[in-house]
Amino acid sequence: MIVADRKPFDEIMGMIESCERILLVGCNECVTVCAAGGAKEVALLASQIRMKRKAGGRPIEVDEKTLERQCDPEYAKSLAETLEGYDAVLSIACGCGVQLVAETCQGLRVLPGLNTRFMGVTEEHGVWAERCQGCGDCVLDRTCGICPVARCAKSIMNGPCGGSQNGECELRHDTPCAWQLIIDRLKASGELSRYGEIAKPRDWSASRDGGPRKRIREDMKI
Ligand code: SF4
Ligand code: SF4
Repeated sequence: MIVADRKPFDEIMGMIESCERILLVGCNECVTVCAAGGAKEVALLASQIRMKRKAGGRPIEVDEKTLERQCDPEYAKSLAETLEGYDAVLSIACGCGVQLVAETCQGLRVLPGLNTRFMGVTEEHGVWAERCQGCGDCVLDRTCGICPVARCAKSIMNGPCGGSQNGECELRHDTPCAWQLIIDRLKASGELSRYGEIAKPRDWSASRDGGPRKRIREDMKI
């Protein structure tokens, strides 16, 4: 899932400083799971904004809405019919959701209420960790299901580097060395002999060619 955090409250208030009526829009998917942008967070943020502005003598009207998925035009389009009279839309979805809403709500300011962090997993309640950078050329088969792109601080393909010590990454001592994890898992599955296989230089253009990527499934197009 995509993991995001709410922006600092003062930053949000600064973005809507000139507004008298806004639509605050959440999303029922990833940002609900990471407790940053679901219906509950919409209600909480809306109340905080109203109270802050009322206390400052400049009340603001904040309407609330939570879409099933802000990154899906099927749902984002439903906003277009209800935008009359708003000064801005404040979206608390990930950056993809904000952008699709901005495309849908042409002519209206669309503001981001979250900072989108990464694609990750839930490690425990309240703890999420990065697992994938969407590199476009997955190597998890070679690395026993541990991603060296996202989990090695240097994204190296033939690790560990010389800085790996006692299973820790040299750049962050609270983080396990991804390559040590890979070696441990290869050992545990009796596949350590595969560790000697040198990975060829990667073609990073699949993910890092500087432009936006697109995936088209011709079989699904209507
Ligand atoms: S190798 Fe690439 S696609 Fe696979 S998990 Fe890592 S970043 Fe994601
Ligand atoms: S210590 Fe391990 S995780 Fe850290 S940069 Fe080196 S190989 Fe990557």
